[in-house]
Amino acid sequence: MRAKTKMIHGGVTGDDKTGAVSVPIYQVSTYKQDSAGNPGDYEYSRTGNPTRHALENVIAELENGESGFAFGSGMAAITSVMMLFEAGDHVVMTDDVYGGTYRLMTNVLNRFNLSHSYVDTSYPDDVEAAIQENTKALFIETPTNPLLKITDIAKMKEIAKKHNLLLIVDNTFATPYWQQPLNLGADIVLHSATKYIGGHSDVVAGLLAVNSDDLAEEIHFIQNSAGGVLGPQDSWLLMRGIKTLGIRMEAIERNTVKLVEFLQGHEKVSTIYYPGLESHRGHDIAKNQAAGFGGMVSFDAGSGDEAEKVLSRVHYYTLAESLGAVESLISVPAKMTHTSIPAGRRAELGITDGLIRISVGIEDADDLIEDLAQALA
Ligand SMILES: *Cc1c(COP(=O)(O)O)cnc(C)c1O
Repeated sequence: MRAKTKMIHGGVTGDDKTGAVSVPIYQVSTYKQDSAGNPGDYEYSRTGNPTRHALENVIAELENGESGFAFGSGMAAITSVMMLFEAGDHVVMTDDVYGGTYRLMTNVLNRFNLSHSYVDTSYPDDVEAAIQENTKALFIETPTNPLLKITDIAKMKEIAKKHNLLLIVDNTFATPYWQQPLNLGADIVLHSATKYIGGHSDVVAGLLAVNSDDLAEEIHFIQNSAGGVLGPQDSWLLMRGIKTLGIRMEAIERNTVKLVEFLQGHEKVSTIYYPGLESHRGHDIAKNQAAGFGGMVSFDAGSGDEAEKVLSRVHYYTLAESLGAVESLISVPAKMTHTSIPAGRRAELGITDGLIRISVGIEDADDLIEDLAQALA
């Protein structure tokens, strides 16, 4: 099955009992047992729920994995993955990981003596140099937020293999439609399904897929023990979102390409960050490891004041955090998602006050361009 067909026919489809073509929402916590200690397939919904299982099967198929898992948020998925490690272990991570991941490592998991190093993983030599005796994993995000930096997943696998590390990929920005890290050797792929996979700004959820039975068993043990599971209603909403993930990603990328062309010709716009541009440092790797470049684009409007003006004038871009929805979203990372990073460090990374990030939606591209044109004028 090809990706778009998997989105419709993959995993568990419909309901055998009634012929319903949509998987029913099993709004239930517990299940009747035939005799004491003899449960059927399901016994308690934290451990397993048929609606959640249907979703978990779809994400496994989309990522070419053996097993999938659904969590109450992307952060719950990431937290569960970190519970694979123990006190004294160390993880090497992409330096501009999602802010919530940064906070989890720096302000929560540090309490349990799980240490980490941040590295610009787009430079493989730096990754290798950061590995310590107690390093157990590489945790990468590609493309990153908001500068869309690209990390070579296959190269990371080489390093992980050499040093006996788990390779964990946050695939939120690329989606399983464009990029399948398990195919490139990753051990664990995870998503904030709140973004493109849900796609409609109406669910907070996390998804994860693995290829090994041992890892699957451990992750299920942690999922059931820590309990950060996704409920049946939200599982159903994600399955509905997934049915259109392929056509949404294609529409989003078509719009993004047009918007980037417009931005390239605009006198007020200096640097544009989009992996689809040949001038982007990670362009060749992105082209190699992903089937598409995605719908996130950042550009420099010159100054914080200019960025502020653009935000106040746009009509079709909603000023909001988050990304990956059918509606276009706009943000200024320096004032919104990246405020916790000191100004000096932000400048070093290239996250200037004038940097605007857009998550392109599926509106008419001409409306998006006209709106941005009047806002920049
Ligand atoms: C949003 C996001 C997360 C966290 O996911 P939630 O669903 O908000 O908990 C993790 N990684 C990336 C790349 C994200 O964009």
